[in-house]
Amino acid sequence: MKALIIIDMLKDFVIGSLKCDRSLKIVPNIKNLAEACRAKGIPVIYSNDLHLKGIDKELDIWGEHAIEGTEGAEVIPELKPKNGDYVVPKRRYSGFFATGLDLLLRELNVDEVILTGLHANLCVRHTAADAYFRNYRITVPEDGVEALSQKEYDEGIKYLRKFYGTRMVKTAELIDELE
Ligand code: ZN
Repeated sequence: MKALIIIDMLKDFVIGSLKCDRSLKIVPNIKNLAEACRAKGIPVIYSNDLHLKGIDKELDIWGEHAIEGTEGAEVIPELKPKNGDYVVPKRRYSGFFATGLDLLLRELNVDEVILTGLHANLCVRHTAADAYFRNYRITVPEDGVEALSQKEYDEGIKYLRKFYGTRMVKTAELIDELE
């Protein structure tokens, strides 16, 4: 069973304090993929930053973002979770670290994760690492992830492919596969 994981498509990362204009172009691709997955009964899981103000170490590096209770921590309206989707908050780069993601994936009999969202070289990469360590197969649509610069995007994709055996595809190919 596959699961689609949408990472950090939050207001702060797309249009807010850590905004990334490059991320706008992946929004329709993720939206189409999520709709296709829902139609096929493939779980759609949001792995969302949700930081505790004044506590989380990551804020020292990045400044305040995705603080619990703020608008910036909300998923952008275009990709708003639908009934039946899952939302798993995280406080570190990896969607697996100190969260219920692994348990949820096991309960859903998932053995392949499709990773989308932000950023290819950061939270996607760290989530892929933890997925790889736990024996999940990893697929990444190259037009479904982004980073703050082309250089960081390229580095992220290269690393995903080389070290985690990630299968790189285009969103449209992946949607065709699901049909
Ligand atoms: Zn964060």
